[in-house]
Amino acid sequence: MIRENIIAIEEKIQSTCNLSCRKREDVKLIAVSKTKPIEMLQQAYDCGCRDFGENKVQELVDKYDKMPKDIRWHMIGHLQRNKVKYIVDKVYLIHSVDSLRLAEEISKEAAKKNVTVSILIEINVAEETSKFGTTAKEAVSLVEEIAKLPNITVKGLMTIAPYVENPEENRLYFTMLRQIAVDIIHKNIDNVCMKELSMGMTGDYETAITEGATYIRIGTGIFGDRIHAAVK
Ligand SMILES: *Cc1c(COP(=O)(O)O)cnc(C)c1O
Repeated sequence: MIRENIIAIEEKIQSTCNLSCRKREDVKLIAVSKTKPIEMLQQAYDCGCRDFGENKVQELVDKYDKMPKDIRWHMIGHLQRNKVKYIVDKVYLIHSVDSLRLAEEISKEAAKKNVTVSILIEINVAEETSKFGTTAKEAVSLVEEIAKLPNITVKGLMTIAPYVENPEENRLYFTMLRQIAVDIIHKNIDNVCMKELSMGMTGDYETAITEGATYIRIGTGIFGDRIHAAVK
């Protein structure tokens, strides 16, 4: 089932790239494997997936230990400051940085391990009260502050769009995220690039690709439904 799912998603990514004149290699697929067992991750790995996304520190660390070492691990969930130390030397990219205090902690722990951590700034563009993320308004000043920290590189922005039946309803949020990135680029901040836009999930990734997503994060589309009690 996982293989068929990945093949179907690959075809959709490719055709959406064709339609929007984008190169396939500019859209990276993250297999969101939260709550799923190692055997299922291994199947995705065997189909060629090398980017995996997790939203809990403990689960990411467990899976990191058990899975092959050429995997790029993405932390996509809300991150507590006291857990940063467990993952700074294991993650390829942290998508969910939404405060200066969290960024300071990441930089501090990264310095101890002598690494530089790549991060994205999470923006709650739809301003849903249930979600983490900084606001569009605060994004520029937050990036300016975070950019001064020594062991962090800001690579772009991330958003979690609302759950909707019709993905077109989320198009404006993807456009907004791209626009915020453009605003930040125009500020010309040292140590900041806005190369990556992490947006689009199972229900809306095609829309996100047409709006410029460079990372799409797909869970159910690859691994099937999650048991709801285990989510979040
Ligand atoms: C769970 C999760 C996803 C994947 O969601 P699906 O709808 O299952 O594709 C993507 N991004 C984040 C931040 C998530 O927590």
